Amino acid sequence: MALTATKTEAAASPLRNFIDGRFVASGKSTFENRNPATGELVNLVAEADAAMVDDAVKAAQRALRGPWGRMSEQERSAILRKVADGIMRRFDEFLKAEILDTGKPVSLASHIDIPRGAANFNVFADQVLTLSTESFRMATPDGAGALNYAIRVPRGVIAVVCPWNLPLLLMTWKVAPALACGNTVVVKPSEETPTTATLLGEIMNEAGVPPGVYNVVHGFGPGSTGEFLTQHPGVDGITFTGETSTGRAIMTAAANHVRPVSLELGGKNAAVVFADCNLDKAIEGTMRSVFANCGQVCLGTERVYVERTLFDTFVDRLKSAAANLRMGDPFDRATTMGPLISQEHRKKVLSFYDKAKAEGANVVLGGAVPSLDARFHGGSFVQPTIWTGLPETSSVIRDEIFGPCCHITPFDSEEEAIALSNDSPYGLATSIWTENLTRAHRVAAQIEVGITWVNSWFLRDLRTPFGGSKQSGIGREGGVHSMEFYTELRNVCVKL
Ligand code: NAD
Repeated sequence: MALTATKTEAAASPLRNFIDGRFVASGKSTFENRNPATGELVNLVAEADAAMVDDAVKAAQRALRGPWGRMSEQERSAILRKVADGIMRRFDEFLKAEILDTGKPVSLASHIDIPRGAANFNVFADQVLTLSTESFRMATPDGAGALNYAIRVPRGVIAVVCPWNLPLLLMTWKVAPALACGNTVVVKPSEETPTTATLLGEIMNEAGVPPGVYNVVHGFGPGSTGEFLTQHPGVDGITFTGETSTGRAIMTAAANHVRPVSLELGGKNAAVVFADCNLDKAIEGTMRSVFANCGQVCLGTERVYVERTLFDTFVDRLKSAAANLRMGDPFDRATTMGPLISQEHRKKVLSFYDKAKAEGANVVLGGAVPSLDARFHGGSFVQPTIWTGLPETSSVIRDEIFGPCCHITPFDSEEEAIALSNDSPYGLATSIWTENLTRAHRVAAQIEVGITWVNSWFLRDLRTPFGGSKQSGIGREGGVHSMEFYTELRNVCVKL
């Protein structure tokens, strides 16, 4: 496959904002978007100022009153399928843009990011056609009764604030159901990964999405586009994926005008490996859950708890497998681990590598910066890293690192494994590895997370509830749960 991108309007530099169906230049300044694998400039990006965010919100409000607001669900569904087709038709352009922005290996982006980005539109195009509402007949004193039924209406203008780790996938995970339900959106992609959201503007136009339904504004968080958007009184709901601390700021912004929020936040996910697991599968799954996307997956594992009788074998096996990860050119199909997203994030991850050493960890593997070809010296690579021997109070075990690393701790009983997993302010995801399915069900029911996998990881049916417990989020998205967030129910009571 040739990863050549055609020069499109969306891809022009500086990368522009997409408002009311048109690409518009900055009202403010531009900022640099750099390739995390090499440090080279990918493009300059036009930062939207407050006036431009206001334009985008107003365009989205107008679009609600235009043809989009009058379309049937069937018509919207058909358009969303065209959006999915449009992404697949220009697969290579999306793939190249995502790889340049994130540095993730082509094997991963071609398998997960782009196809899932397209699939989100098909899944929610289906979902909206099967959506039902409730109806209740009630008795009245005159004996004739009354009929209640609920109707669903779009919430209105949705602010979609996205992270950088799975840019197209996580953005469309929100945009697709929001549009399926008849809302309009203003998307604020991460400043680290602005390109695919912009390219999607062209696809929206080609698919016949009316102007103003899908808008993209570029910029940063506090004091910039993210804050202008989430504070804007014309926004009717906010869906956010990112760090827990940012989620707090966004909740505060939402409170100002009493708007609903959906928050998908950080995690410190555990894997629980029992001695009776299928070891090959447990190693393969843990390799992916710790190191996929260079550890920058919200569902990724950073704490591994292994039954003591299997502990040494498991550590050796994971070490050997991780030592075989191949870092380097993300466009090379043989590359299995890319860089971290930025130099700044690398500093943060390396600070945890240092802390682990300072706290007395046994460094089983890694713990430093790899030596790679000169062309990657400006990149943000770190070694895959495994530690053992730290107390559970260590910051390496308590704080989200968001890097390719894990700490492995032995346990002696099922109760202890459950208690260790639950000892976290986060509660996003867990993987349990055991061939004893009775135990798997029993343990799964006691783990305080939104998503538990048994003998797998990242196996996603998009109809299932997705979200976090504790400080990992508020609300659930996926299937009917997305539809619940992106619509408002109105009850109609008819006296018979
Ligand atoms: P982040 O919170 O730094 O940024 C996310 C987005 O919020 C960016 O677009 C940013 O510009 C914007 N933003 C920042 N401050 C803001 C503010 N005050 N007001 C409005 N917008 C603001 O997160 P990140 O570093 O991009 O992503 C990594 C984090 O995302 C990790 O913590 C990871 O666990 C989490 N994450 C969670 C899930 C999930 O489903 N739970 C999925 C992916 C990533």
